[in-house]
Amino acid sequence: MFILPDLPYASGALAPVISEATLLTHHGKHHARYVESTNALLANGEASRATLEDVVRRAARGDTSLFNNAAQAWNHAFFWRCMRPGGAPVPDVLAAAVALAFGDQAGLRSEFLAEGAAHFGSGWLWLVARGAVLSVMSTHDAGSPLVDPGLTPLLVCDLWEHAYYLDHRNDRTGFLIAWWDQLVDWSFVGAQLDAAIADEAGWRYPEAVA
Ligand code: MN
Repeated sequence: MFILPDLPYASGALAPVISEATLLTHHGKHHARYVESTNALLANGEASRATLEDVVRRAARGDTSLFNNAAQAWNHAFFWRCMRPGGAPVPDVLAAAVALAFGDQAGLRSEFLAEGAAHFGSGWLWLVARGAVLSVMSTHDAGSPLVDPGLTPLLVCDLWEHAYYLDHRNDRTGFLIAWWDQLVDWSFVGAQLDAAIADEAGWRYPEAVA
């Protein structure tokens, strides 16, 4: 079975952008439920042999219920990992790739915020790499860049209202600005880009346990 990974920081460490109350519910209820449902749908024992990445990719080819739960489990774990209290500086290799694709870090910020503001309904807001080439994209509901084998996710923000409604009400853009300016772990984003350039897998969901 797949586990619910612990948060990589204390539950109050992202406040005030993401309050402890939001994080406890989001991780301990929403994320936990997706993991439980994934395990229930894999009750034939498949979960002990496959990686969650494999489950997501296989389910994308026709098992909607499994895809929705497995991808939500993966997306949330990746989202937690993309944040760090206080953020982190942008590594040089990442800064160079950002300059090529967006002009500079401010250009990336503008495009990311615009994509998030324009996204209708629930979903996820991503920075992805195809090799060393960066782009911004959003996915609906549980949608995942993992279904495109050429894409490596570098960064994600949760656009479901449960991610921000308690703390920011309907102000999605206000949430995104505070999130971008205060919480993104750019050293992790840079490590993901390093993996994309090296044609390696990058971050993986914890392996299933017996
Ligand atoms: Mn969520």
